[in-house]
Amino acid sequence: MSETKYIFITGGVLSSLGKGIASASIATLLKNSGLKVSILKADPYINVDPGTMSPLEHGEVFVTDDGAETDLDLGHYERFLDENLSQKNNFTTGRVYSTVIEKERRGDYLGKTIQVIPHIVGEIVRRIKKAGEGQEILIVEIGGTVGDIEGLPFLEAIRAMRVELGKKNAMNIHLTLVPYIKVAGELKTKPTQHSVGELRRIGITPDMIICRSEIPLNRDLKNKIAISCGVDKNCVIESPDSASIYQIPLTFLNQNILEPIAENLALKKLNPNMSKWDSLVKRVIAPNSEVTIAFVGKYLDLKESYKSLTEGLIHAGATLDTKVKINWVDSEKLNSENVDKILKDVSGVLVPGGFGERGIDGKMTAINYARINKIPFLGICLGMQLAIIEFARNILNIKDANSMEFDPNTKEPLIYLIDSFIDANGKKQIRTYKSPLGGTMRLGGYDCNIKPNTLLSKIYDTKKTRERHRHRYEANPKYREILEKNGLIVSGESDGLIEAIELKNHPFFVGVQFHPEFTSRLISPNPVILNFIEASIKNGR
Ligand code: GLN
Repeated sequence: MSETKYIFITGGVLSSLGKGIASASIATLLKNSGLKVSILKADPYINVDPGTMSPLEHGEVFVTDDGAETDLDLGHYERFLDENLSQKNNFTTGRVYSTVIEKERRGDYLGKTIQVIPHIVGEIVRRIKKAGEGQEILIVEIGGTVGDIEGLPFLEAIRAMRVELGKKNAMNIHLTLVPYIKVAGELKTKPTQHSVGELRRIGITPDMIICRSEIPLNRDLKNKIAISCGVDKNCVIESPDSASIYQIPLTFLNQNILEPIAENLALKKLNPNMSKWDSLVKRVIAPNSEVTIAFVGKYLDLKESYKSLTEGLIHAGATLDTKVKINWVDSEKLNSENVDKILKDVSGVLVPGGFGERGIDGKMTAINYARINKIPFLGICLGMQLAIIEFARNILNIKDANSMEFDPNTKEPLIYLIDSFIDANGKKQIRTYKSPLGGTMRLGGYDCNIKPNTLLSKIYDTKKTRERHRHRYEANPKYREILEKNGLIVSGESDGLIEAIELKNHPFFVGVQFHPEFTSRLISPNPVILNFIEASIKNGR
């Protein structure tokens, strides 16, 4: 295969402009033009990975099939590209320094002085090239904003790579904000000019500028940006606020973004086939009907921590031509007194994953309500664990039923901690559980064997599936027999571990230990989520 070509994406003015979505959108257009494309997120922060970062601060931790805990942008990449990414598609300053320091301690540098240039920058370049192996194009998104001190080695790395690879093998795209000043009724280009100036100062000249703005930019303004920032006129692309993030590849395509990209990178003419995408986006924006789902969680002030799941609901809705309206229910405020009032009009109840004891009683109240009133229910990870505890307490009459997460000394550990397990790469992991943060998690993709003639087997329509995990605790097989005797079916398992449950005599009551949302994509929604929404639509309440 020919050499990999690189598209480097930087951000200016401020963060949260949607660089990840812009990167994923360009990648999608290139992939649908028949190219082999992948994406890398290089994060300048010092954490070695986002695994221990608070969801309140950093949004969701996205888990790849090979068990890496990564930045939530990787989730966007997978959802757009419809491809599995891996460990090598995300790295941080912390990871880069760890590698260099490890090598230094081993004596690999033969006594040399270790410096940011060349050693740290060299390690960044090595990691970028590793992610590019086997690809025709690698999109590299540099986290943070130009001007951040910690971002400098990353910018130096892409500057040097472009020089080394030559102009036809690398291009720079800069995403900035063009603010709209309401009182003046004007869009302002000055911040963009400053941010491009800052990039230039460190030796990077953008080939294309993507402008985020509240409203569309007119031709004059685009020309002004082109002239003041020194890019071709067809290289100023606008990205106004959209009704759906999935619209953005189409917004870019309408502006012929692929023409200058093909020209810059000396590629043949690119003609992406976006017809399926286009029809799904139409259904996301103007769906035929609506269904309301109760989302019973505890991180409600930061919905970014449920990003993959809320996107998964959008994917299912697009396929079913239905808007999935989320009724956010704060599990800490839900109790037996108000549950009927809060849940009586919803068509389905969703209890997502979570950590810690806060809010679990409210979640169990919701599960109990869905079970008794035969409302479609989906419990994910903690949601499945709580469904088992609820069943044990109220059907099996094991009043002390609990999870060791909430009571390490519980007499009835329906949910318990196993001391060793095989990880996603086939290696045996021994749990060194000391504190809630320090325990070893079961992470990444695992095969799940599906019991024939169950709802789960109908959902997946296969005997075996593969889904991703992120948890410490497991359903305790000691209780399996008594649970099954009383109508709870273990419908999925992996090496003796209970991966999925469902209830007899209920239209849709499914709990999964894995996170189906991590494999949901716009063009191929996850079957569990899709069937849950379908059942909720049928429920018709
Ligand atoms: N806290 C539970 C565990 O660690 C569930 C985790 C989750 O929902 N992701 O097993």
